[in-house]
Amino acid sequence: MASVTELAVARSARPRIDEFRRITIKVGSSLLVDSAQGTIRRAWLGALADDIAALHRGGADILVVSSGAVALGRSVLSLAPGVLKLEDSQAAAAVGQIALARLWAEVLSGRQITTGQILVTFADTEERRRYLNARATIGRLLDLHAVPVINENDTVATSEIRYGDNDRLAARVATMASADLLILLSDVAGLYTAPPSENPSAKLIEIVPRITAEIEAMAGGAASSLSRGGMRTKIEAGKIATTAGTHMLIADGRIEHPIARLRDSGSCTWFLTGTNPVTARKKWIAGSLEPRGALHVDMGAARAIAGGASLLPAGVKRIEGNFARGDCVIIRDEHGAEIGRGLIAYDAGDAMRIAGRNSRDIEALLGLPGRAEIIHHDDMVLNGD
Ligand code: GLU
Repeated sequence: MASVTELAVARSARPRIDEFRRITIKVGSSLLVDSAQGTIRRAWLGALADDIAALHRGGADILVVSSGAVALGRSVLSLAPGVLKLEDSQAAAAVGQIALARLWAEVLSGRQITTGQILVTFADTEERRRYLNARATIGRLLDLHAVPVINENDTVATSEIRYGDNDRLAARVATMASADLLILLSDVAGLYTAPPSENPSAKLIEIVPRITAEIEAMAGGAASSLSRGGMRTKIEAGKIATTAGTHMLIADGRIEHPIARLRDSGSCTWFLTGTNPVTARKKWIAGSLEPRGALHVDMGAARAIAGGASLLPAGVKRIEGNFARGDCVIIRDEHGAEIGRGLIAYDAGDAMRIAGRNSRDIEALLGLPGRAEIIHHDDMVLNGD
């Protein structure tokens, strides 16, 4: 566990919810759906929607990762209690997801917020080219002030290649969207020194400055009958989030206005990160990816990207390598010196076709509309960054 001094320092630095600019909120099934009746907890959801609307009005971008499709669908289909077979949970998800999306659209539109549904699979967040697509769509929705409501595409995800729990999915979504905070609303108040059901003297940990082996050992394996993720998947989520520069907190969502209560310093567990999404992403692009090719750019383009612009096809003079969209490539200046690296928005063949050309001509050259930038500024790290 963290030392007492470390905790004391961290406690004084407990962040405030309204400081965050982009927040992913994960809502667990057991909060949304009454487990005995299989019905939606509407009053509670209305109060949460008020909290979301308050953050949104304050200027924060909000993403919601909502569970509940399987829980809702299984009650509509009157499936027997207990663990569902894969095809039954997929059928339940198909039925429940429609209701879930409608529900979010209704409660948020009642608060003047537009929602958009995004269903993702494991591959959408883990394969770089698909990841870039999902990231771009989420980014655009947020630019348009909409709130994406996201779930796993449970009807097509098969058991070997799915998240299965929305804790880790929410963490990947949060990092993909470069969110600076992930809130896991759950049916537990946070991380305890031991599972509280087994140990009545267990204490809530307010701040986790770093996820250590001791912290992981405290997680146990408990999960309620409706939700998939226990504390273990929450700690996994914490690792994903904090490595990518996203702070995470776990809080009890069962109370009314769970987020407003957090603002008034309600109890929860914070998992802090020492970095931020932009720095973490730049480090990932610069260090962990094997470059698959190179773009040689002209002087004007080199100057423009140094000034913070994206790299446009017009500034690319020559291309080397056989890369796919989403791969990391080196950016070289006119003398061949490396000036940066980035994730390329086009496969090598298409990149060669549009190199040196105006972005307006992309559709005519490729037969499809494409992104104006060959490497977007957010996907680029320059030497000296
Ligand atoms: N994706 C599942 C659903 O919507 C929930 C998984 C979870 O509970 O974490 O029903």
